[in-house]
Amino acid sequence: MSTDCRTRAWMEIDASSLRRNFGRIRNAVGPSPGITPMVKANAYGTGVAGAVRCLEGEAPKSYGVATVAEGRELRALGVERPILVIGPIPPGDVPGAVEARLIVGISDTGSLARLAEVAAGRSVSFHTEVNTGMGRGGLDWQDAKRWGPEVARMAGPTLRWEGCFTHFHSADLESDDSLHVQWQRFREVIEALPAPREDFLVHACNSAAALRASGYAGDAVRVGIFLFGGVCGEGLPDPEAVVAVRARVVLVRDARPGTTVGYGATHAAHGPERWATLAIGYGDGLPRALGNRGHALLRGKRVPIIGRISMDLTVVDITDVEDVAPGDIATFIGTDGEETVTLEEVASHASTINYEILTGFTPRIPRIWSEAEKP
Ligand SMILES: *Cc1c(COP(=O)(O)O)cnc(C)c1O
Repeated sequence: MSTDCRTRAWMEIDASSLRRNFGRIRNAVGPSPGITPMVKANAYGTGVAGAVRCLEGEAPKSYGVATVAEGRELRALGVERPILVIGPIPPGDVPGAVEARLIVGISDTGSLARLAEVAAGRSVSFHTEVNTGMGRGGLDWQDAKRWGPEVARMAGPTLRWEGCFTHFHSADLESDDSLHVQWQRFREVIEALPAPREDFLVHACNSAAALRASGYAGDAVRVGIFLFGGVCGEGLPDPEAVVAVRARVVLVRDARPGTTVGYGATHAAHGPERWATLAIGYGDGLPRALGNRGHALLRGKRVPIIGRISMDLTVVDITDVEDVAPGDIATFIGTDGEETVTLEEVASHASTINYEILTGFTPRIPRIWSEAEKP
């Protein structure tokens, strides 16, 4: 691993932690269900090339993505495993999906007809999504008697119906019976479906559901956030941290009482303060909402972010930290000495969820993957 790209701000991704998180999903669901890592949105912001290099060693069943472009990128990286694009996909992306041999998530029979038309005799696979409450996609669970036979009629040896799935809307919540209600709806559909019996994959669980209700794992679980170190629900085990985000100190200065900092001058030095300017901003994906709220770690100590975060720079109050100098490394997510700022703490300070924090980091910060250890 080169350290050359650690000059300004960067993300570190710990491949061995990711692999151990994969192992914990494996332990939770048992040996039979396949594990389908979701690597959409640049593998939750961590960099899809590094993620795939790491995950290939775990022999995942397949990969899941949200867009056809993401599926094509996986093919360009040399991935030969099945790739499911969740969908619904826009009409203009259908040719690309066929060409890249993606398994298309189907939410209506019109899209299936379009897929057949574009494929024009070439082989293409699809999974039907069943809407059991998520509502953003899927064929309605209450109408399966209508669409089931219709899909079965359209499917065949080239338009291959290879699976059926649903998605839980509240698997992160502990005392919520919607998980069980949705599963029940899904089971009813699966039992009534005139689908192929051989090589037909039934899947439902995201990270939280895989850990909370492993009995619902079916033939595969689609896991994302837990692999990448995000806490995925109430009462569920914490994953190992995978991601750290750090930036260099570029300027250290004493601030006289009353000196202001940042756009809007929202912070003024109360007394004599000492400030450090860090080479990271919202243009890198550090949430602007952390201004006057969040923390960084410097020399193993917590330091408050003062003033608004700019596009390229962030200022922290280092009055209580000795010997800070340009070139020092500040940690915005991760551990420095005895102190840790968790991904969840950052999300909470920014009034959002860990998923949005991870996927918000922009291409400007390099992703540095530690080498995956050999099994
Ligand atoms: C993103 C996604 C997942 C993964 O969810 P996590 O909570 O990150 O594990 C699973 N299924 C579908 C349909 C998704 O869109």
